[in-house]
Amino acid sequence: MSSDLLINLAYTVAAVLFIFGLKFLGSPATARRGNTISALGMLLAVLVTLLDQAVIDYRWILLGIVVGSIIGTLAARLVAMTAMPEMVALFNGFGGIASLLVGCVALSQTGLTSFLLLTIFLSILIGGVTFTGSLVAWGKLSEKLPGRPILFQGQRLLNAGLLLINFGCGVLFVLYPEQPFWLYLAVALSAALGVMTVIPIGGADMPVVISLLNSYSGLAACAAGFAINNNILIVAGSLVGASGIILTNIMCKAMNRTLANVLFSGFGAADGAAGKIEGEVTPMTVEDAYYVLEAAQSVVVIPGYGMAVAQAQHVVKELQELLEKNGCEVVYAIHPVAGRMPGHMNVLLAEADVPYDLLVEMDDINPRMENFDVAIVIGANDVVNPAAREIPGSPIYGMPIINADYARSVFILKRSLASGFAGLDNPLFYRKNSRMVFGDAKETLSGLIREFSS
Ligand code: NDP
Repeated sequence: MSSDLLINLAYTVAAVLFIFGLKFLGSPATARRGNTISALGMLLAVLVTLLDQAVIDYRWILLGIVVGSIIGTLAARLVAMTAMPEMVALFNGFGGIASLLVGCVALSQTGLTSFLLLTIFLSILIGGVTFTGSLVAWGKLSEKLPGRPILFQGQRLLNAGLLLINFGCGVLFVLYPEQPFWLYLAVALSAALGVMTVIPIGGADMPVVISLLNSYSGLAACAAGFAINNNILIVAGSLVGASGIILTNIMCKAMNRTLANVLFSGFGAADGAAGKIEGEVTPMTVEDAYYVLEAAQSVVVIPGYGMAVAQAQHVVKELQELLEKNGCEVVYAIHPVAGRMPGHMNVLLAEADVPYDLLVEMDDINPRMENFDVAIVIGANDVVNPAAREIPGSPIYGMPIINADYARSVFILKRSLASGFAGLDNPLFYRKNSRMVFGDAKETLSGLIREFSS
């Protein structure tokens, strides 16, 4: 068997492992296995590539492995769960710059055809946009940059102009590859374009953008794969590109918004005054909440962003166990965009060892909501806002929500009547069956646990 055939066979095995890995990543129960399988695929791909290419000096590669492993291990151990979105943003950015650099190095090959020059240009364009865009996303999420959208007149025109000039540079580069000026200009314009496309987006919309940038990093890798004629890079890049765009689409659908609306509307800029509701809210003490919970037969917990802020996942699990000991059925209702990143609630609850089979998706819980004695809403707001169902003029009208108000009683654990990400008042707080248990969610839940324990 020729070595080419062997290498391509190994690449095919790696590609199959990636695909199975992605499949397993689709469910929390199999996600760890998916991660391991994908990592094995990548190990195989890297090993075969190292054997394949005429590697000039393995010392550089060894150095890269050592430095990369140290940084990776430290990052995985030290970064808090709440900082995960910004960590992912950085990873995407590094993917982008890697493709840009591979594109630059690919220029040193001999016999560059117009097709190869085009793929080099694309890996530089997409890689550059991904790199600087991801850095801005990281800055916004880690609050090193202002999180609010930065909007100004003519912004879209300017961005379209930047993209057009960039394409022009691409054409000139392919026509006159011996003049590096056009490529340098393309690098600078791509970097500018990355910044300009991400600054108009509000901090809380950043997860959607990160998922999109993740997709871009895959496309950049795919272009780089063509540029250096590496099949596995083309396959892996395409998989990342496609899965990123699918996730982006799922998140936009769950918010009932188009991608264009997320990218251009500056939604995070909405203020709390929108949609004020007349009426009274009914506060409730922790003691009174305990008496109701003590008698409850079934409870549904609906977590949201506030649970992440309060880091209340462990106390939620404790309360769940106490309720179960008391003969009560407890499940968790998970909205696809609760929190600030895809799977935010799943990650937090998994950290607290909440069994996966207790997590119920929105579409499965809603038809059962009327059967629950109590819905405990923990730091969730937009994802339980009935305005999305009932008020046609509301900015979130049409967004699928968890129908917490259909439960017999609703306990809302939050610090105030403040709005959530969408900046809207919530009619749920004013419902007859709603009770506000004001305070930090972790403290309120700890209070409930104390009541149960005594
Ligand atoms: P929201 O942002 O609507 O509400 C969170 C609530 O948590 C706030 O109203 C706040 O009220 C409360 N809160 C904050 N800190 C605490 C605390 N320490 N203890 C108790 N409560 C607290 O969150 P949801 O999860 O309901 O909705 C997510 C929103 O984010 C949706 O609009 C979604 O579209 C958007 N989004 C989500 C993305 C994702 O990937 N998941 C991506 C982009 C946007 P108070 O200050 O009164 O305590």
